[in-house]
Amino acid sequence: MLGKGTWGELLAAGKEKLKEAGVAEYDLDAWYLFEHAFGISRMQYFLCSGEQAGPGEEAFASYESGLSRRSKREPLQHILGTQEFMGLEFTVSRHVLIPRQDTEILVETVLSAHKEKNISVLDMCTGSGCIGISLAVLGGYRHVEAADISEEALVVARANAAGIPGAGNVCFRQSDLFSEFSPETDRYDVIVSNPPYIPSSVIEGLEPEVRDFEPRNALDGAEDGLLFYRRLAEECGRFLKKNGSVYFEIGYDQGEAVSSLLRSHGFKDTEVIKDLAGKDRVVCGRWQTA
Ligand code: GLN
Repeated sequence: MLGKGTWGELLAAGKEKLKEAGVAEYDLDAWYLFEHAFGISRMQYFLCSGEQAGPGEEAFASYESGLSRRSKREPLQHILGTQEFMGLEFTVSRHVLIPRQDTEILVETVLSAHKEKNISVLDMCTGSGCIGISLAVLGGYRHVEAADISEEALVVARANAAGIPGAGNVCFRQSDLFSEFSPETDRYDVIVSNPPYIPSSVIEGLEPEVRDFEPRNALDGAEDGLLFYRRLAEECGRFLKKNGSVYFEIGYDQGEAVSSLLRSHGFKDTEVIKDLAGKDRVVCGRWQTA
């Protein structure tokens, strides 16, 4: 139970609670929960931190509940309900992977390689919709489609598309990879995907925020982590136009394996692109039928 001293003491108590719970970014997370519960901006806080706190019961209960959920290592984004990605705000829930900053590299790579707007793009394994929606909004592409096996994820993705200006024309489809697609009617210039890619045995060692709260089926890439790349490398060619391209997010040590899977299925010009931390993060390849 938190005491009600000054605003400054209320924030400090929150930080302390999260620190004791082993939350790495306890300082920042306590601030976000404080801001969310009380609606106090940084500037207001600066002016009022020494004053006696007078939050309403509801706001105080919301702060306490946020701190208690975060102490149990529930991700901050599940408590706040949103995550920013490519400058856009996405609703998230326990049914979708929380958009990662690393994944912005994937979106930026596609945007900088495809300035032409008159193309069709597919985001396979879309989750929250963050990749497909960012591409539609920032790339202005003629046709953007997004697919996921999870109906619950698609509910979140559709709501995101409906709420973000410029994303209203993104089409969604429930499909186990390409099970609901037909090469006769569904052909794309670009297929982009951030599939599950963590080896099953690694998942137990992840932070509790990821291991216990994020959807396992958005993370687990089977024994060697490569299951979905194998299926994508096998199937994407049938759904690409001539000279179409694929862009996949990968784990830091999967660059060579995924490139060679693509090459062995007929893709050319494979490239591995690094993230801001200097780690391999994206693999791309071009499909040539001629
Ligand atoms: N990069 C994510 C993580 O670190 C995993 C994303 C994925 O499997 N597609 O948890």
